[in-house]
Amino acid sequence: MNDPLLFQSICLVMARMPIFRCTIGRHFDYICFRLTRKLAILKLTMHSLCFNSFTSTEVAVDVAMEPMYWCVDNFTKYLGPLFVLLVVCLTASVVVIFYMCLLPQKYYHSIGWTIYHLVFGHWLLVNLVFNYLMAVFTNPGSPSEMIPETVSVCKKCISPKPPRTHHCSICKKCVLKMDHHCPWLNNCVGHYNHRYFFMFCIYMWLGCLYISISAYDLFKEHFYGSQELRYPGYFYVLNLALGGVTAMPSELGSKSSSLYHLSIVYEFMLCSGVTVALGLLVLWHARLISRGETSIEVHINKSDAGRMKKIGLVHRNPYNFGFIKNWKMFLGLSNGRSFWRHILLPSTHKPMGDGLTWESTTYKLDSLGILLL
Ligand SMILES: [Zn+2]
Ligand SMILES: [Zn+2]
Repeated sequence: MNDPLLFQSICLVMARMPIFRCTIGRHFDYICFRLTRKLAILKLTMHSLCFNSFTSTEVAVDVAMEPMYWCVDNFTKYLGPLFVLLVVCLTASVVVIFYMCLLPQKYYHSIGWTIYHLVFGHWLLVNLVFNYLMAVFTNPGSPSEMIPETVSVCKKCISPKPPRTHHCSICKKCVLKMDHHCPWLNNCVGHYNHRYFFMFCIYMWLGCLYISISAYDLFKEHFYGSQELRYPGYFYVLNLALGGVTAMPSELGSKSSSLYHLSIVYEFMLCSGVTVALGLLVLWHARLISRGETSIEVHINKSDAGRMKKIGLVHRNPYNFGFIKNWKMFLGLSNGRSFWRHILLPSTHKPMGDGLTWESTTYKLDSLGILLL
């Protein structure tokens, strides 16, 4: 720094640096401010162009799902008969394999066990077939011309709707106390066949569980042979996928025919799969029945509860009379009907009420079905 002029120049530049940085900073802030403002105006313009007080996320999801709803509405009625045929064929195949393969093999040496299985198995089978046929062929019920109580108007039928009635877009009619449209029945589940549907699910689940337990030893023998298993035999996916078993048995080909072998494996796999899937469905419906709700009402009640919570009110389901009364009403156990005769054995008794007028926790019906407020 021998040159005083150079030293003076450097000092001058250094003295001006904060001013320079400050100027850059101010410009950067200004640009950010302008950009943020432009974005806010753009956002506001977009909102003002698309604003609709009736629009919500639910509406947007509904619109996006509309093509799928259209397919369900238009094709389910054609798939229904195929689904019913599938249920009949699968059930028949399971029963035939039980008779042809399981019963002679497993209980050949014990007449006592054979009788027990024939009695228990047939009790399940009779109830299953009866409830399935009744669920398929019983009309769930539709509103009549004269409706004592109207809560709304059906936009599709252009006719008044009684409480708990909903329009089925597949059957194209209003259904009393509609639960859902079941493709496995090719019918709506409503007021007059709800019990048959639920009892069919229960007996089907019991039947599949019973066959899964009965066929377990044979299945293990036929599917894995004599090999050591890392996981229990019914976790066949785990045993195969995670190396619980090293290879498929080779000695079975000489022991039994491939059809027999396949039948045992098919029987167990189908029944154990249905036991798990149907078990979840039965639990879901049992929960709904215990709370006095249908599959449709559970969504309506949930949204009503959310709306009322916002204004500080508590929503109560008007058709929830408590666990025991809900089940009694659902099973139609009134007028001296008993659980042993009317539930454990096939029965064609009708549900309580006509499905047009409903007793609720806020009002009751007299003996003639007239509302007592
Ligand atoms: Zn309708
Ligand atoms: Zn329907």
